[in-house]
Amino acid sequence: MGSLMGDFEEELQEVRDTFNSGKTREISWRKSQLQAILSLLKERESDIFKALNQDLGKHHVEAFRDEIGTVAKSAKYALGNLNKWTASKRVKLPLAAFPSRAKLVHEPLGVVLILSSWNFPFGLSFEPIIGAIAAGNTIILKPSELAPACSSVLVKTIHDYLDNSAIKVVEGGASVGEKLLQHNFDKIFFTGGGRVAQIVMAAAAKNLTPVTLELGGKCPAVVDFISSTWDRKIAMKRIIWGKFGACGGQACIGIDYILTQKKFAPTLVELLKKYIKKSFGDNPMESNSIAKIINNKHFSRLKGLLDEPLVKSSIVFGGSSNEEKLFIEPTILLDPPLDSAIMTEEIFGPLLPIITLENIEDSVEFIRARAKPLSVYGFTNNEKLQKRMISETSSGSITFNDAIIQYVVDTLPFGGVGGSGFGRYHGKYSFENFSHQKAVMLRGYLIDFGFRYPPWNNKKLQL
Ligand code: NAD
Repeated sequence: MGSLMGDFEEELQEVRDTFNSGKTREISWRKSQLQAILSLLKERESDIFKALNQDLGKHHVEAFRDEIGTVAKSAKYALGNLNKWTASKRVKLPLAAFPSRAKLVHEPLGVVLILSSWNFPFGLSFEPIIGAIAAGNTIILKPSELAPACSSVLVKTIHDYLDNSAIKVVEGGASVGEKLLQHNFDKIFFTGGGRVAQIVMAAAAKNLTPVTLELGGKCPAVVDFISSTWDRKIAMKRIIWGKFGACGGQACIGIDYILTQKKFAPTLVELLKKYIKKSFGDNPMESNSIAKIINNKHFSRLKGLLDEPLVKSSIVFGGSSNEEKLFIEPTILLDPPLDSAIMTEEIFGPLLPIITLENIEDSVEFIRARAKPLSVYGFTNNEKLQKRMISETSSGSITFNDAIIQYVVDTLPFGGVGGSGFGRYHGKYSFENFSHQKAVMLRGYLIDFGFRYPPWNNKKLQL
């Protein structure tokens, strides 16, 4: 890999020079770039819709909701709060520090590398870009090669709308990512899987570069039938959406599997079937409301999960697929073996295992016994269970009576814990993610204490 060091040197030097010029520190520059993102989203909306349909089969309404609308909301939020975020904050000092003043100043980190994923190619690229711009950095973005139409629209639109001396897009796959990682960045923001995250961290360690890792995992949804006050109709719609409705189940915070009470499992299966049909019709393959599987490799991976004999025999709904259309039917499985791949690996597709428990409280132990998820969901109004889930399980976020929605709340941090990643972003957390909070202290000469200074003698201890 050593000889590849020359790659991207020019691009990096240019964004480094731009950063050093101080241009991106100007609040007016940051605002102009955030405004430009809004214009890009508005004026190039149809290109974005077309690319998302081509790569992922996303309907334009889903594309608007999950990518254009969500990113525009975040850009507006950053614009509206930028003055407040960038203002230095006075800090109180102890009397012993008199006479002094102190403040916190947010300074940009420098040149940041953003490596993004394919399932929300615009959202997962622009969301960190917004934070990096708001904080005054320059940026190299490498989108995923698995959504090539979207990657190409990102290149063209970012070229046309944003300041290219400060923000550049590099296209390519693993080898391009590896070449980029040989360079010295001031921050690496990575969205993807755990395997590549280890490569990213190892490369970052060489330069002691701070990293944020936005990873995945298995997000459980606890569906409590004994909690009497829930609205089943709304709950089912939200579960169906949380599993199949965002990129066809290829979402890091999508519901991976359900935990529910054994005696209510048949009722749950019937309800889920009913709402799958309501959402995607009797023949979901003809539906334009469910995204396709990204490529043949992921299609075969998902088929492989289903084809394990004991898993196959646990299918209670769906199970059909069409490789040519990269389509897998929304599928429900009842109690597949817990040691099967479908229950030990992140599913990332439209397969929904239901695991039954005698007692819903056992879900707490079930979740605790496994890797820390990016999100935990609880469909319950049982306050005791809610409290136990909050305090006795660990996850990036926990949401009750809904799924995925926490992603769009600017005032909540988004990120994982343990194997689901570390570092957080969105709203002010994005600004902070790409900033260094510098402690600034201004001392006066009015009072001075001699015991601080050598030469040492015992008298100085008595003061
Ligand atoms: P991935 O790890 O394969 O790829 C992520 C990015 O890294 C891509 O840009 C890819 O080209 C690049 N890459 C791949 N190999 C590389 C290498 N050797 N060196 C440098 N860069 C390399 O992940 P993916 O398939 O794009 O995404 C799926 C995973 O991402 C899932 O686990 C999912 O849960 C997770 N994810 C997390 C979030 C989140 O916000 N936490 C969002 C979406 C996806």
